Amino acid sequence: MMMLTKKMIEIRSLLQTVGQSETLTLPSIVVIGSQSSGKSSVLEAIVGHEFLPKGSNMVTRRPIELTLVNTPEAHAEYGEFPALGLGRITDFSQIQRTLTDLNLAVPVEACVSDDPIQLRIYSPNVPDLSLIDLPGYIQVTGRDQPPELKEKIRELCEKYIRSPNIILAISAADVDLANSTALRASRKVDPRGERTIGVITKMDLVDAERGASLLNDKKYALRLGYVGVVCRVPQAIGTGKLFNRGNGNITSAIAKNEAAYFSSHPEFGGDSHLDVGTQNLRKKLMYVLESTMASSLKTTSEAIQRELAEATYEFKVQYNDRPLSAESYLAESLDAFKHSFKGFTEQFGRAEVRAIVKHEIDQQVLNLLAQRYWNRPFDDLSQPLPDPDPLSSLPKADLDNTIWQIKLDSSSASLTKLGIGRLATSVVANALQAHVDQLTLSSRFANHPFARQAITEASTTILRDLSYDISDELEICIKPYKYRIEVEDSEWAKGRENVTNVLKEELKVCESAAKIVETQIGGRKKAKDVMAFIDRVRDGKVVLEGDGIGGAGGFSSALLHKGREAVFLRDRLDVLKMRIMAVKSKQCANKANKYYCPEVFLDAVADKLTTTADLFLDAELLSKFYYLFPRELDTRLGRGLSQTEIERFAREDPKIRRHLDVVRRKELLEHVLKEMEALRQLEAREKRFSSRS
Ligand code: GDP
Repeated sequence: MMMLTKKMIEIRSLLQTVGQSETLTLPSIVVIGSQSSGKSSVLEAIVGHEFLPKGSNMVTRRPIELTLVNTPEAHAEYGEFPALGLGRITDFSQIQRTLTDLNLAVPVEACVSDDPIQLRIYSPNVPDLSLIDLPGYIQVTGRDQPPELKEKIRELCEKYIRSPNIILAISAADVDLANSTALRASRKVDPRGERTIGVITKMDLVDAERGASLLNDKKYALRLGYVGVVCRVPQAIGTGKLFNRGNGNITSAIAKNEAAYFSSHPEFGGDSHLDVGTQNLRKKLMYVLESTMASSLKTTSEAIQRELAEATYEFKVQYNDRPLSAESYLAESLDAFKHSFKGFTEQFGRAEVRAIVKHEIDQQVLNLLAQRYWNRPFDDLSQPLPDPDPLSSLPKADLDNTIWQIKLDSSSASLTKLGIGRLATSVVANALQAHVDQLTLSSRFANHPFARQAITEASTTILRDLSYDISDELEICIKPYKYRIEVEDSEWAKGRENVTNVLKEELKVCESAAKIVETQIGGRKKAKDVMAFIDRVRDGKVVLEGDGIGGAGGFSSALLHKGREAVFLRDRLDVLKMRIMAVKSKQCANKANKYYCPEVFLDAVADKLTTTADLFLDAELLSKFYYLFPRELDTRLGRGLSQTEIERFAREDPKIRRHLDVVRRKELLEHVLKEMEALRQLEAREKRFSSRS
């Protein structure tokens, strides 16, 4: 017999995980009673431990779904909150504290919450039972309680005492039964008294005759009857403390106390056929729960079959019967991502590194040239004015003047000492990171913030760790160039060709920048006027008052500012054009004239640096990153994830979440149905067995 209830309670818990549905559940025992009726004492007597929140101001704010699991082989008694994942709690006062905290977490304005707290208690001393403890009815609302609390509690209870649940209506013997809120509520939904068990507590507080008459109540006759109990834990004599407080089991103390009380009053004797004592109450609950559950099995299993048919249909139509689990989804996504990364590694090699590094160093060369060569002497307003022709006013290299040697040597030294190791490593690392980000965005992971972050962290961590050493090592590789640079004829020729392109490219950039500034100023004509004015200022023909902060020459200060930019760009364009001509000239064809052609020389240096860097970065940064990254992904998104994290990951994508829900629901329902079938067989076997014996 006992096995059946246990199984049915298990099925009931399983159904709870399928989701909220009124038809998809097996009945439970719902406990109602007014505050102070002794409701908690009854539940604690059944469990054998004090575990419910107490205190004058403690209103239970959430239903407690209490599942008692009989563990005949075990000694230990413990509780578990399956939803909280706190593990086994053997200290019942800690269960009490947890329940108190969960209650206090309900916002005061909400009064009560109908989201039940799941609590399972495992013990060799409890029967297999499933009980739902509801907030006690309150008579008068306290000063610090919201006025609607009373009504909200009533509504909550009403929802739970619906059929087919069994109602355990608690009333105290010292209160007129006609005034029992629990019985009144029960009568409303169960007028014929078919599924209500009446519990009369505090039998010790009324005289035995009156107590006996309560149990025989005919005004609201109950098919399942009334049970009288005395659930107060007796006080230890002399200490003033409650007997057996702490973690010990109180069942036998209560039973002894009850036995002493009821046997001393003949009114409750054997002939009276009155039902008294918590032991009897437990037996009754077990029997009633089992038979009620058993009779609900058929309708519940039909409901499950209907739900299963629905889920199966949805699975077929919406998801083409495609199986899916969070693990398989993650594994597939990760494989696909690693595959696309592999594809990227095949396309991004030394040549790509070279292009990135060279472009970066070219920019540095341009900066150096601008700093050291391309500044027109007349930018310095203290110098006498040169001839206005911009080409002829540019500095000419004079081989006899050592300044030009120093200028080139120091420019080349600036380039080699720029920290090329760091620079090259970081531009390549940044490029790798950008590609990884791009791959992520075009992968399934795009819809998964959690995975996106894990991937970014994986690549940044590896790149950061690698870059640190690689920068230093690369710096050492280029060290020889810091002292001496020999340029071959072929290198010179290549540099000449390349730098021409770089200068042309720069020319284009400057031209479009100049166009933009011209438009900002308000057109060609206006730009010309502003520039002419600035030129006159520079030439000393006009003297500005107060630096022209408030504007000058009929131009606002903002306009003058833009004008300066335009002048700068115009001059830069002149210089670039002139330098392109110079680089193309015969003179620059010969490396002996390197002082005339710093652009070509510096480009040749840049090329040598790039060659060293790309070789090194290809061997160190790329190959190491390509090896480590997929493995790091496995750790962060594969093996390293817990089941909950995998679930959380997969459920981030709403489409996947729905798919998973359908699969899960279908599997759970199938599982429950199988369990129910097993239960049916067990039931049949037990019937055969009992008819034989
Ligand atoms: P609840 O508010 O309905 O949960 O009631 P409690 O279980 O907290 O009990 C309210 C008060 O009645 C407490 O002080 C209990 O000690 C006391 N009480 C509970 N059951 C009995 C009983 O059978 N006899 C006596 N004398 N007192 C009881």
